[in-house]
Amino acid sequence: MDVEEFRVRGKEMVDYICAYLSTLDSKRVTPNVEPGYLRGLLPSEAPEEPEEWDNIMEDVDTKIMPGVTHWQHSRFHAYFPSGNSFPSILGDMLSDAIGCIGFSWAASPACTELETIVMDWFGKAIGLPKEFITNSPGSRGSGVIQSSASECVLVSMLAARNQAIKYLKHNNPHLDDSAFLPKLVAYCSRESHSCVEKAAMILLVKLRILEPDENCTLRGETLKRAIAEDEARGLVPFFVSTTLGSTACCSFDNLEEIGPVCRAQPCTWLHVDGAYAGNAFICPELKPLMAGIEYADSFNTNPNKWLLVNFDCSCLWVRCRITLTSALVVDPLYLQHANSGEAIDYRHWGIPLSRRFRSLKLWFVLRKYGISGLQKYIRNHIRLAKYFESLVRKDSRFEVVNDVKLGLVCFRLLGPEAVNRNLLAAINASGKLHMIPSMVKGKYIIRFCVVNEHATEAHIEDAWNIINEHATELLESLEK
Ligand code: PLP
Repeated sequence: MDVEEFRVRGKEMVDYICAYLSTLDSKRVTPNVEPGYLRGLLPSEAPEEPEEWDNIMEDVDTKIMPGVTHWQHSRFHAYFPSGNSFPSILGDMLSDAIGCIGFSWAASPACTELETIVMDWFGKAIGLPKEFITNSPGSRGSGVIQSSASECVLVSMLAARNQAIKYLKHNNPHLDDSAFLPKLVAYCSRESHSCVEKAAMILLVKLRILEPDENCTLRGETLKRAIAEDEARGLVPFFVSTTLGSTACCSFDNLEEIGPVCRAQPCTWLHVDGAYAGNAFICPELKPLMAGIEYADSFNTNPNKWLLVNFDCSCLWVRCRITLTSALVVDPLYLQHANSGEAIDYRHWGIPLSRRFRSLKLWFVLRKYGISGLQKYIRNHIRLAKYFESLVRKDSRFEVVNDVKLGLVCFRLLGPEAVNRNLLAAINASGKLHMIPSMVKGKYIIRFCVVNEHATEAHIEDAWNIINEHATELLESLEK
């Protein structure tokens, strides 16, 4: 494809995307296909000879699209939002065209410098303490874009593990690093995302999963008791992962209680995972939900969830960047450059070497919407979630199970788990609406998350009508 053909096909692709996104709502939300559906439709070998573009696009329409789950559909209410917006798509398009691999400052100075600047903009906008903002007075911290919240948690735990091993080595300098691993213990709540468990698995450290209180909040006393028990067993508490906006029910851990417990320890790193909810802190009225953030050693949030930025864009800030990078530095000659040491080299801030120019899309979104536009978007979702909650509460067959603070409502039909399983299965099978389940306070519940950028009250009413109809049908069939 030469530049002239790209010019034509590129414009056609923009038209295709516009048509896709503006006609999406006439389709099923989820595809009606069985596992392996695509293998029967595509050849078993890659083509030997070049193919016509029109033929490829024909296959997109007839073979690929029928197997796509439409995350941008107005009746997609599963998971958390998958960020998407035109400025972000354009930012990614430009990043793909530039095609730089910004592992070091020299590998593409603008790629590195824009990332640092945008992370500072965003960090300030959500009200992070100044210690996390590059070069603010007294700060040793900064931010970096990772691919996922899972990676943010993993590298934070890795940095904490490194810090703890260094601390323990003071008294045992002759021991190998690995000798300390059996002593290290990390903590999280039962409500934490499973990526914390995965990080502990990868890093070969113990993880103690603590019970939250009746509001699904991890409390300081619970952590304090667990730490005391573990210290009595000779273990070393080195990492606590807390959550602001849990996956199952959007609950918030109590950082004001947990923070001082971590600070009282000689080397216990406090991580705060705000993968979804962290974005909401751009609204001043929601900042109380992050009370206690001043105790954090690291914090992450995903604009690719709830800030209209396409995957992947997961923001991680650390209080001390040297502690992070010293756990990750490997420095072969072929990656060094004249400004090594002085300029930021993001390859030392995460696991992969290669990095895309991801800050472009975040920068485009921050500029095109402005903080005020993004606040409006977040507030609309919260207003609509509360509207959905009010509809559920008016129907005595249902109960709302979580405290609806942001865009997630957890609800269920009063009655046994099986009825709720059947209700959700029937709704999802209809292809009209998509939601997922979770367990909250020991109950099987259905999660309804507001995710669409342009969601309105009418969309919420449509969704509620579909739920209502299925519930009526199911309950009537049970009475027969
Ligand atoms: N943390 C929380 C609170 C989440 O809700 C999720 C996913 O929804 C994750 C972490 C994992 O996110 P990622 O897919 O970016 O690894």
